[in-house]
Amino acid sequence: MAINVNFDKINDNHTVANCRDETEAVLVFCAPIRGRIMSEVLRCDVVVVGAGVHGSSAALHLARAGKDTILLEQFPVPHSRGSSHGQSRIIRLANYGIPQLTPIMNESFHQWRRIQEQAGQTLLRPSPLLLMARSGNRSSIERMARSVEQGGHTPEWVKPSDINAKYKMNLPPSSLAFFDHSAGVLMADKCLSSLQKLFKASGGRLVDEWEVKDVGVGDDGVCEVRGPKGVVRAHAVVLCPGPWAGPLLNSLGIHIPLRVERVSVFYWRLKDQSTSTPIFMDRGERKAGDNYYGIPEIEYPGMVKVCCHAGLEVDPNNRDQRVNNALRDQVKLYVRETFPGLVPEPSVEEACLYTVTPDSEFVLDRHPSHRNIFYACGFSGSGFKIAPAVGEELCRLVLGLSPRHDLKPFSAARFTAAPPSKM
Ligand SMILES: Cc1cc2nc3c(=O)[nH]c(=O)nc-3n(C[C@H](O)[C@H](O)[C@H](O)COP(=O)(O)OP(=O)(O)OC[C@H]3O[C@@H](n4cnc5c(N)ncnc54)[C@H](O)[C@@H]3O)c2cc1C
Repeated sequence: MAINVNFDKINDNHTVANCRDETEAVLVFCAPIRGRIMSEVLRCDVVVVGAGVHGSSAALHLARAGKDTILLEQFPVPHSRGSSHGQSRIIRLANYGIPQLTPIMNESFHQWRRIQEQAGQTLLRPSPLLLMARSGNRSSIERMARSVEQGGHTPEWVKPSDINAKYKMNLPPSSLAFFDHSAGVLMADKCLSSLQKLFKASGGRLVDEWEVKDVGVGDDGVCEVRGPKGVVRAHAVVLCPGPWAGPLLNSLGIHIPLRVERVSVFYWRLKDQSTSTPIFMDRGERKAGDNYYGIPEIEYPGMVKVCCHAGLEVDPNNRDQRVNNALRDQVKLYVRETFPGLVPEPSVEEACLYTVTPDSEFVLDRHPSHRNIFYACGFSGSGFKIAPAVGEELCRLVLGLSPRHDLKPFSAARFTAAPPSKM
């Protein structure tokens, strides 16, 4: 018997008992699984989960490599609930992480320049970055200077008194400081939308408001990504879920100790419009939370961004339920002491999320048994700049090519008992 399926006539008041006929009873009975009956099945070569900077970059590389690629995003695009929104990010060669990061940073610089040309708009604003630390943190600043040299540039060491005179700052005389002239600011929102536009121009499909609930691999080896909207079947899956990586990876048996932090982005008003401030990173003394950075007046007129590289652990779905007043007071004190040219009360406060690993280095790997599932996460508040190179490495892994860089230090094996996967 054919039933004319019209769920629109069924509402919450209907029960099987009060139906007028058998057809209506079948519809009422099926209503709870309506979503599944009516959901879509999409097919492609590769499905990328998460349209933040890393997922968008991976999707672009894959589409350009000729792969039919779908990029899924749970929220409407653009959105400000993850880690890649906002107007600016620092790009630099000065590396305080492990040395294997330096060539990845260097390569990304070149790729951002190419993306900028292809996008036809300014994404990268070159500008010297002032790196600072106190004498107790000499090793950190010297390591950063060496990485600038490795990238083919010369760090320019400067005296605290000269910095204080030039920028109306108040650096203690014991400070160590140099300029990284290779650095700059990435216009983050524009970078993200450019990656997505170029992806679509290369034939990629960006599907937003499509939440992934579950990832699996069938007996035929084909991956299935499932969510309330339907199913996507693909030969490979790339997961770049940012702060939501933990639960999705856990469901696949991959347990990485990720900590999601809500960080506050503060903007401070200039007391006097003639004052200029540099892009800076201040590593302070070697003590927890003593790590500040700032970007001059390029976002909101008359305001400078100064923030602390630290946050409060949160659930990404309820991030604004916890606000860190102690951190706010700490940054206020830092601004009062270091930048007398700024009003020491934030004029604008925005929120963003970090996904932090125990060693603050990211994870890029593949599933130990489902070899066509790849993932990248845990960028620990410093991953925007390297998205082009990370996306390229994910693409190379999907294509079965060997990575361009040494990715062993970024494997999940450093946190899991699982044997290292052979990339
Ligand atoms: C305040 C702040 C300042 C920073 N400063 C710098 C800097 O100066 N320099 C620098 O290099 N880096 C910086 N970073 C870090 C950088 O921005 C992040 O490392 C980077 O944006 C992380 O990108 P992502 O793609 O991993 O995550 P996200 O941008 O969060 O993207 C993940 C996406 O996946 C989607 N998603 C998750 N789960 C699902 C699901 N189940 N189904 C569908 N979609 C899903 C999410 O909605 C999200 O859009 C900063 C970060 C913050 C917050």
